[in-house]
Amino acid sequence: MKALLARALDLLYPPRCVSCGAFGPSLCDGCAARLAPARGPDRCGRCGARRDPSAACGGCAGWVALDGASAAFEMEGPARRIVHGLKYRGVRDLAEPMAEALWPLVRELGAETAIFAIPLHWRRRRSRGFNQSEVILGRLGTRPAPGRLERTRATASQVGLDARARRRNVAGAFRYRGPALDGAAVAVLDDVVTTGATAEECARVLRAHGAGRVHAIAYARAVNAPGQRPD
Ligand SMILES: [Zn+2]
Ligand SMILES: [Zn+2]
Repeated sequence: MKALLARALDLLYPPRCVSCGAFGPSLCDGCAARLAPARGPDRCGRCGARRDPSAACGGCAGWVALDGASAAFEMEGPARRIVHGLKYRGVRDLAEPMAEALWPLVRELGAETAIFAIPLHWRRRRSRGFNQSEVILGRLGTRPAPGRLERTRATASQVGLDARARRRNVAGAFRYRGPALDGAAVAVLDDVVTTGATAEECARVLRAHGAGRVHAIAYARAVNAPGQRPD
């Protein structure tokens, strides 16, 4: 019955690429080929920000708990439409290519790394119907993390805030429930990483529960531009 309904919906609304609108899979090959990698030698080895090698990196100077962050693509063009397609339009199929793009990052961290999805506040999760980071993590199919991260209070959108305001906005917003992490290597996964303020706050909490190495991984890396429209 469910399959029949899905087929009827496909006939009424044939699936299209979220980026260019071409009929077919939710991300077409052409748009997938246009994704801009957010990695390379011109970037800070710790946070992935583009940098002048002769100067210290401003992107991760404020990080205390977070060892590093990496993202698959720049938050531009198709990547932006993919992130928005999953998060705001609920196109869950997109979690598949997003998880695929995250695989090399996960492999670099090592199989022993426990990955936590960055949580939404329960109220936002209820209104959206899902947490996009959990959906992506589910597609990755890595072994379950030993406990769970929870968001204890709703926070204002980080959009339009500078790095310092972002840190203040998420301070004390998370807690960890589960066994002591005993020096374990862990990672937090989000759809987008910008200044890393949210990941840093999660890392602080995980370290307080014994985590050793803490990394952040994300599908897309956005440049912090206070005043821009929501991602
Ligand atoms: Zn396309
Ligand atoms: Zn850096």
